[in-house]
Amino acid sequence: MNFDELNLAPAILKAVREQGYETPTPIQAQAIPAVLAGHDLLAGAQTGTGKTAAFTLPMLHKLTKGQGKTNKFGKDGVGALVLTPTRELAAQVEESIRTYGKYLPLTSTVIFGGVGMSPQIDRIRKGVDILVATPGRLLDLHQQGHLDLSTVEILVLDEADRMLDMGFIHDVKKVLALVPKEKQSLLFSATFSDEIVELANGLLREPQRIQV
Ligand code: AMP
Repeated sequence: MNFDELNLAPAILKAVREQGYETPTPIQAQAIPAVLAGHDLLAGAQTGTGKTAAFTLPMLHKLTKGQGKTNKFGKDGVGALVLTPTRELAAQVEESIRTYGKYLPLTSTVIFGGVGMSPQIDRIRKGVDILVATPGRLLDLHQQGHLDLSTVEILVLDEADRMLDMGFIHDVKKVLALVPKEKQSLLFSATFSDEIVELANGLLREPQRIQV
């Protein structure tokens, strides 16, 4: 399989080509068509399999095609929310989004704890299409009234097993209550404990299952 066969926007393919990628990895070959078709996804994948591009590329494509909603502050609403367990992963994912989305008119930002809130607040006040966040800081900013998540159309839980291992289950569930019921959800996890299966069952609707 070739990237050209995946029906991604030319601007995305150009950015992918610049990375020197020749063929989609197995998780990309399976996940990209499923996400473009609108399915929820339950993906078993370790880091290093190309899972970041597997959700980022179709997410960028869908946000580019969509209308994009305005949030309660009158700014570009968050169309896609990616939750990660750690700030390092959040930063890496957002960097990938910038790389693959460099030729698209979409904005992204990253939010995590352990650093000052003001720059993050300033950034989200301007409106942002894609938000990558760790759960705790996201909830703090929401509680303080800085964040509207009612426009989310695509939700990604990346490394969901690590998120639960780190004790974020309650925070994740609180975030899930802040996003619309009607949305596309993608869950990535290296392992599948009972707790992950329960989380997946509560979140995903007739998910396409992928294991690499
Ligand atoms: P990830 O599993 O998302 O952390 O990605 C692991 C590494 O694989 C990253 O350094 C990516 O830049 C690289 N990568 C992702 N997709 C491809 C691809 N289709 N071909 C070659 N390298 C890739």
